[in-house]
Amino acid sequence: MGKTYRQINIDEYINYERFYSKYLKNMKRTGTDKISAQCPFHDDQHPSFWFNINNGCWKCEAGCGSGNAVTFLARVEKISQKEAYKILLKEAGLFEEDKKKGKKMKYTLENYSKEEKLPIEFLTNVCNLKQEDYHKRFVSIYYKDEKGNTAAIRKRHHPQNKKRFS
Ligand SMILES: [Zn+2]
Repeated sequence: MGKTYRQINIDEYINYERFYSKYLKNMKRTGTDKISAQCPFHDDQHPSFWFNINNGCWKCEAGCGSGNAVTFLARVEKISQKEAYKILLKEAGLFEEDKKKGKKMKYTLENYSKEEKLPIEFLTNVCNLKQEDYHKRFVSIYYKDEKGNTAAIRKRHHPQNKKRFS
């Protein structure tokens, strides 16, 4: 069964100590899973703020409130929680759109073979198709003249790519 990203616990992928260190001053470990620091939301003379390194939840004991890494980031960067969540997904290396984009644009000899219902050996040996692109974004099709010289090279991209051929 394939896991969807929504079922993944983002906490397992984020180093909250590193994440919070970008925004907090005077960070100090105060327990096995707690770090205290000066609160970024008020003029803090004491380390009134703390967060849990395992789940990213935070609280300001001086009354600024409490929350998780998403609400913290939204508040400190003055962005929406939706935007903050996206940034955290990126931090965790789980940003869905980036992953999908990368996959969508790939176009390999295997794809071509399936699409045209022709075996790969036939495509490479008879039709002069090559997978030259290291990132596998397109397949090169070599057009030869009667003498066997390359007359033209056409690049076939993924069907969903704006540019189908080049
Ligand atoms: Zn505070």
